[in-house]
Amino acid sequence: MLPTHRICCKSNFKLHCFVCDGTINRGDEISQVLESGGMEMRRVPYSGSRWVHNTCFPIDGTMYYLELIAHMQKMKPNMSYKNVVKLVESAPNVILEA
Ligand SMILES: [Zn+2]
Repeated sequence: MLPTHRICCKSNFKLHCFVCDGTINRGDEISQVLESGGMEMRRVPYSGSRWVHNTCFPIDGTMYYLELIAHMQKMKPNMSYKNVVKLVESAPNVILEA
C-alpha cells in the first residue's frame, strides 16, 4: 500500500473517475489531475478541475502522484528517478490510465 498523504482529500460528492472508469463515492480519497494545458501551450502544469481516486494515475499525473515520487526520492536517495517512478507505479493498489 502507498502511504497516505495530506495532498489527497476526501470527496464530498459522487464523481466519475476517468482512469478506472469507476465511481468516486463520497468519502473516497481523491487527488486533483495535473492538466498540461493542451492547446493553450502553458509551460507549467497546473492542477485542473478533474479529480480521480488518489491511487488512479492518469498520464498527466496528479498532485498525489508528484508528492509520492518526491516522498519516495527522499526515502530512497540512491535510487534513480526512473526506478522511483517504477516503484510508485507498480504499487499493488495503483491503477494507471491505459
Ligand atoms: Zn479511479
